[in-house]
Amino acid sequence: MEFTVSERLQTILDMIREFLDKEVVPMEHEFATKGFKEMLPEIEEKRNMVRKMELWAPLHPKEYGGMGLKLTEYALVAEVLGRTPLGLYIFGCQAPDAGNIEILHKYGSEEQKEKYCRPNVEGKIRSCFSMTEVEVAGSNPTWLLTTGVKDGDEWVINGHKWYTSCAEGSEFAIVMAETNPEAESRHMRASMIIVPSGTPGFNIVRNLSVMGHVGDGWTSHAEVRYENCRVPLKNVLGGEGMGFVMAQERLGPGRIHHCMRWIGICNRAFDLMCSYALNRRRTPTEVLADSDIIKTYIADSAADILASRLMVLNTAWTIENAGVKAAMKEISLIKFFAANAMQRVVDRALQVHGGLGMTDDTPIAMWYRGERASRIYDGADEVHKISVARRYLREYVGKEVK
Ligand SMILES: Cc1cc2nc3c(=O)[nH]c(=O)nc-3n(C[C@H](O)[C@H](O)[C@H](O)COP(=O)(O)OP(=O)(O)OC[C@H]3O[C@@H](n4cnc5c(N)ncnc54)[C@H](O)[C@@H]3O)c2cc1C
Repeated sequence: MEFTVSERLQTILDMIREFLDKEVVPMEHEFATKGFKEMLPEIEEKRNMVRKMELWAPLHPKEYGGMGLKLTEYALVAEVLGRTPLGLYIFGCQAPDAGNIEILHKYGSEEQKEKYCRPNVEGKIRSCFSMTEVEVAGSNPTWLLTTGVKDGDEWVINGHKWYTSCAEGSEFAIVMAETNPEAESRHMRASMIIVPSGTPGFNIVRNLSVMGHVGDGWTSHAEVRYENCRVPLKNVLGGEGMGFVMAQERLGPGRIHHCMRWIGICNRAFDLMCSYALNRRRTPTEVLADSDIIKTYIADSAADILASRLMVLNTAWTIENAGVKAAMKEISLIKFFAANAMQRVVDRALQVHGGLGMTDDTPIAMWYRGERASRIYDGADEVHKISVARRYLREYVGKEVK
């Protein structure tokens, strides 16, 4: 694995870091309290500044106006952007658009790419991904009740989803629906279908109230009913029955993005913890950092961060060099390990800040509340642990393990 950062990439990282510190960190407190929509004019102003600096959409293809960085390069960018909650959005590489763009670019028809992918990369529109359902376990995505049935030259979609993140204000949703119930493999029964949000029958019931998420616009999580929602057959993405193949493809790099963003959070929480410990007096002559207990928080956090960072970069390197399939164990390992490491680091940072840590005067409380979800979305801890253990055990016995 190559650790050297090129001069060009280092310049990009330095420019992003400087921009965030000067322009975005000062917006944090307002964002935590006011929400997305109220902040939108200011957010758009910063996005335009990023475009002018030619740092827009670092992850996305150059042909659509992105910077076209490799996954291992973007991983380091996501780490810097993760330092502040609006970082990824202001640089045009936020979830769930990033994952949608990736599969549209890889599997979309030319028409789908022009209509949906290009304006999504340009930041002119937003999109959402609609898979999890209210009535069945999201941890088992082969079990979907939403159906897509052909009628003439249209799909008729019916289903009840929730946690369709960012649906409010999105131009389109990529919806997972069962279209081929007769397929032998459960993994070949679902398709992804593009549904423009203005389509009759695409009905947002409500935005969920989710712990630590302001919950409007890009920060929203919607419950959606698809009620005889009709879209043209050509809106299927990547072919019928290909839903799970593409979902795997989407989630592999997506986990690198999430994990590196979490490590960015850890880095910032660590900075805040160390500087507070060095400055907060516990007696007229001593600061918190003089306490050995506080030193253990710092050491444990440094270990958590370094271990997570190396695991995630190694996984990115494997995906880049050998593909997503070759990195399945690592992708599961980093998902639960980095999420839990982040929680430990943020918790220690909060503890060191005492009463101040509980306020929104620092971003620590926001992360404490909002990032708890990281152990649930994109696969709960237990699901990844079981999956990874099965993969290891299979290597010992040479066959599938229950
Ligand atoms: C903030 C947030 C954003 C999200 N965004 C999106 C989105 O944009 N689009 C989308 O489609 N979905 C999204 N989701 C949904 C997310 O992917 C699901 O919540 C997740 O897959 C878990 O599914 P579930 O909630 O149905 O839990 P369930 O599957 O019902 O599981 C409940 C709990 O049971 C345990 N469990 C589950 N399976 C096992 C097992 N095999 N063995 C042992 N224990 C187990 C776990 O502790 C799990 O947390 C989001 C969720 C959150 C919280």
